[in-house]
Amino acid sequence: MILGGGPAGAHAATHAARLGVDVTVVERDVIGGAADMWDCIPSKSMISTGGAMSFLGRTERMGLGPTDPTLDLERLRKRIGAITTRLGKTTETILTSQDVQLIRGEGRLAGSHLVAVETSGGPVELEADAVLLATGSRPRIPGWAPIDGDRVLTTRDAYPPKELPEHLVVIGSGVTGVEFVHMFSSLGSEVTLIVSRQQVLWRKDPEVAAVLEEDFLRRGVTLLKGARAIAVDRGGSGVSVRCDDGRVAHGSHALLAIGSVPNSDRLALETAGVDVDPAGYIPINHHCQTNVPHIYAAGDLSGKLPLSSVAAMQGRKIAEHVVVGHTASHRHLNYEKAASAIFTEPEIADVGLAEADAFAEGRKIRVTKVPFAASAKALINDDARGFVKIVSDPATGVVLGGSIVGQHAAELISVIAVAVTAGLRVHDIVESMLVHPTLSEALAEAAD
Ligand SMILES: Cc1cc2nc3c(=O)[nH]c(=O)nc-3n(C[C@H](O)[C@H](O)[C@H](O)COP(=O)(O)OP(=O)(O)OC[C@H]3O[C@@H](n4cnc5c(N)ncnc54)[C@H](O)[C@@H]3O)c2cc1C
Repeated sequence: MILGGGPAGAHAATHAARLGVDVTVVERDVIGGAADMWDCIPSKSMISTGGAMSFLGRTERMGLGPTDPTLDLERLRKRIGAITTRLGKTTETILTSQDVQLIRGEGRLAGSHLVAVETSGGPVELEADAVLLATGSRPRIPGWAPIDGDRVLTTRDAYPPKELPEHLVVIGSGVTGVEFVHMFSSLGSEVTLIVSRQQVLWRKDPEVAAVLEEDFLRRGVTLLKGARAIAVDRGGSGVSVRCDDGRVAHGSHALLAIGSVPNSDRLALETAGVDVDPAGYIPINHHCQTNVPHIYAAGDLSGKLPLSSVAAMQGRKIAEHVVVGHTASHRHLNYEKAASAIFTEPEIADVGLAEADAFAEGRKIRVTKVPFAASAKALINDDARGFVKIVSDPATGVVLGGSIVGQHAAELISVIAVAVTAGLRVHDIVESMLVHPTLSEALAEAAD
């Protein structure tokens, strides 16, 4: 029994079904989960439209005449709806073609081996040998933010909003916040970003954050650094965001991007004795088992890395564990080897050991870096910002990590991610004969 049909639930279901298990997925909303409906897919669809706008804004540099694209919000809304609906249907077809039973409704535990579901036809109870809790998370909304879905928005109200904000105040400068700054500033909104520390993406390498800040300033984004929002007031035709240092940011709209809370509060975890931490996340071991061994938790609910790709991999590992248990060949999930990306312009992507963490641990590393300014393809594409950095072990040459800032960084990081997961050496990358001219060549040069 799987509660939640997002990436964690859907991947666990397809993999378990392939391994011969009877699987039921309970989903209260749409198969594909928040990932497809509200988070990854609509945000990247809007960013892709913003990317098209900014590309068309510089056609003259590509040897074309000037163009003046205009945004059509209704078309954009339809485009996003078409993409999310299609993805949801595809996932649903994959599940049903493998005889996974789908139940529409809200599920909760009703005992150690029992799940209760509120369906449109009334309540049902189902027994299960193993249960996966994969109900995801939702945007965190503090008491001081009067969300109305109109002028004061969460990320889920923004695909797209009813009108393009004339001036958007984004609260929160983590991954989600900076992606929304990028999205709306490329679509034509004026944007103010409230940054609680002295740099955006404060957990990231300062060199990486600096490239992004430079791009924001070039676009005219106002950065309010060292300020923490404490109140949002709606008045007349705009909003005012008050900060703890007395500064006030005025705009037509405000958007909250300050993290998420796990959907664990309606799962009746106590009926099965499942532990939950004070923040509402469900602690798991390296097999994704909760303190009740036949009840697993995965995805955002498990409080590990909140990434769709990680949720999907947890789901896959859980299916294997349920079916074959722990075997000698079973590889645990190593969250440190998960690649992640930020879809800004330039894109930012990382995997594995970060240079700063290695220094902090006093670990000996070799760091090699190549700027895209030296790449023929980057010049052809008219965007030579950023760099490739590879971190390796100086004694063995094994690739330990890397970061890429630049065009298509989210795609290019895959090469370093495979190297990190497979334990490849820098020479394995250097000796690959890659296509010329491509951005990937910078990877081989950085590895050399
Ligand atoms: C704006 C934004 C952009 C993001 N972009 C990316 C990105 O580009 N790449 C990336 O890897 N990650 C991204 N993420 C993170 C990613 O969306 C999550 O990590 C991912 O959705 C987690 O998957 P999940 O399966 O845990 O949960 P979800 O995708 O949230 O799915 C959970 C499902 O459970 C259902 N559910 C909840 N309660 C119940 C119940 N009681 N009974 C039945 N069903 C229930 C929900 O309806 C939902 O369908 C983004 C997040 C945000 C906020």
